[in-house]
Amino acid sequence: MNDIQSNINELKKKIPLDVKLVAVTKLRSVDEIFQAYHSGHKIFGENRVQELLSKKDLLPDDIEWHIIGHLQSNKVKYIVPFISLIHSVDTYKLLKVINSEAVKVGKTVDCLLQFHIAQEETKFGFNIQEVTEMIMSDDFTMLKNIKIRGLMGMATFTLNDEQIRNEFKSLVNYYRILKNEYFKNDPDFREISMGMSSDFEIAIEEGSTMLRLGSIIFGKRNNINQ
Ligand SMILES: *Cc1c(COP(=O)(O)O)cnc(C)c1O
Repeated sequence: MNDIQSNINELKKKIPLDVKLVAVTKLRSVDEIFQAYHSGHKIFGENRVQELLSKKDLLPDDIEWHIIGHLQSNKVKYIVPFISLIHSVDTYKLLKVINSEAVKVGKTVDCLLQFHIAQEETKFGFNIQEVTEMIMSDDFTMLKNIKIRGLMGMATFTLNDEQIRNEFKSLVNYYRILKNEYFKNDPDFREISMGMSSDFEIAIEEGSTMLRLGSIIFGKRNNINQ
């Protein structure tokens, strides 16, 4: 067993069975992804459409691909035919584009609404007012080819655990509000995607259902801007 495989096996001991692990493969080679795949792992996440497309065809078909990074509207059409989950829906406009591309290929696309919970200004995402207005609007109910499965958020990159915990708590709070107000009878609305390599233990404690982990599996990335 190599490092990547033992990292995954060690992690799986720490992660409750009902919490999903998305192995984040940005800037990783096809060979590295294969190593993770051969440990039995099947759920992978990429940030960028271009990078995802260039790797996907070289890898097995039974991989469940997720997009976790900011998604441009003009790229949506390339991923809709095969993507399993889009974590990073951050505008109403983007959701509409996903819906219309999904109509074209006759499928329903699972989506998470990304909330802005960090203090950094660079992180994308909705606030609760924007989401409420979107859900209440007339055209929202017309979007038959998207399925809102839950929320996603990224905490501030900080060593302050208390701050990270509070940001995760705010995401869980938004989840509960939306669940109670609009998705009470929708069993598919149940995901909270939060937790990265540096903060996943806190995320689990606060109720994450999906962790997005890269460096703890594959080692440090060389490009610090990713
Ligand atoms: C890179 C990235 C991750 C994983 O980051 P690590 O710190 O390597 O675990 C998770 N989510 C998003 C949105 C990312 O861009």
